[in-house]
Amino acid sequence: MSFFDKMKQGASDAAKKAQQTVEITKLKTQISLKEREIEKSCTYIGEAVFRSYANGDWKQAGKDIEGYCLHITGLRRDISVLEVKMKEIKNEKVCSCGKVVALDVRFCPTCGNPFEDERYFDEV
Ligand SMILES: [Zn+2]
Repeated sequence: MSFFDKMKQGASDAAKKAQQTVEITKLKTQISLKEREIEKSCTYIGEAVFRSYANGDWKQAGKDIEGYCLHITGLRRDISVLEVKMKEIKNEKVCSCGKVVALDVRFCPTCGNPFEDERYFDEV
């Protein structure tokens, strides 16, 4: 590779890195918005519980609470999708045991779990 090619390569790596940082920041913002919404829903659940206690009527609270719980479940699902995207941008993936490894790793170094994603095995 010539000097100029190396310089160009370096510049495009830097651009790629900057782009990654932007993407990761965006995802982090989305995640924290959703986390805040989960907190809010938890507050509403608490209020619904107290209202029912104060009124001696749990029927309406049951419905309200279920609605908020479903909402939280959806938000948590969204967050885990965003977290996977973030890992992909960072060239990482997570084993079912919780270990974070590089995207092209075939077996988990901690638990030995084989990763099934075939996309990365083409060159082998
Ligand atoms: Zn593992």
